[in-house]
Amino acid sequence: MHNMDKKGLVKQFESIFPFEIIEAFKQIKRENFVPKQLKKEAYKDIPLPIGHKATISQPYTVLFMLANLEIKKDMKILEIGTGSGYNAALLSKIVGPKGKVYSLEISKELVKFAKNNLKKANITNVRVIHSDGSIGYSKVSPYDRIIVTAASPSIAEELILQLKPEGIILIPIGKYQQEMIKVKKLADGSITKESLGEFVFVQLRGKKGF
Ligand code: SAH
Repeated sequence: MHNMDKKGLVKQFESIFPFEIIEAFKQIKRENFVPKQLKKEAYKDIPLPIGHKATISQPYTVLFMLANLEIKKDMKILEIGTGSGYNAALLSKIVGPKGKVYSLEISKELVKFAKNNLKKANITNVRVIHSDGSIGYSKVSPYDRIIVTAASPSIAEELILQLKPEGIILIPIGKYQQEMIKVKKLADGSITKESLGEFVFVQLRGKKGF
């Protein structure tokens, strides 16, 4: 049943997104990152509730962000808002075995849920960390890419500081509806910003959250 739905989505996405993103989407089973009773909904292009006031984003939004992050193999990536661990699993496939993904989650229950989902998917290059990601994670910084999957009030200075030169941050800015902002740090350390359109996310909590 969900296999046919998945094929339909793959077909639709193949004309929009790069090959390596489609490959990751094919490899990771979204049905294993949602609550049991929602498995049959896994390949509808909609967000789904995962409890603890969080949602797994709709597949289109996840792939849109991944495509715009311009990820290359072996990169070190920081994700803020692990949720189900689904996006982290896709990131893991895209950076490959020598890449590394750090993913921050503020809800203890979701840390457990995500770790369990990632383990079942045999993902070993993602570290899920229980911490307030609104200030990033300086311990293992700087990162090649930073992806924020919760609605943020602003681009925290900490995130800019934790980004490598030539790095990219994707972050949805706004309270009820968000503008997806792509931040680039140039080789000289200066910053450029570009808007990629409107989306809706769960709100970021914590020190620099809402
Ligand atoms: N990327 C996730 C979906 C994220 S939903 C997935 O693939 O399933 C947004 C997540 O951000 C929620 O799980 C929420 O608990 C988390 N969150 C909210 N504020 C946070 C903060 N300050 N630090 C880390 N995680 C946060």
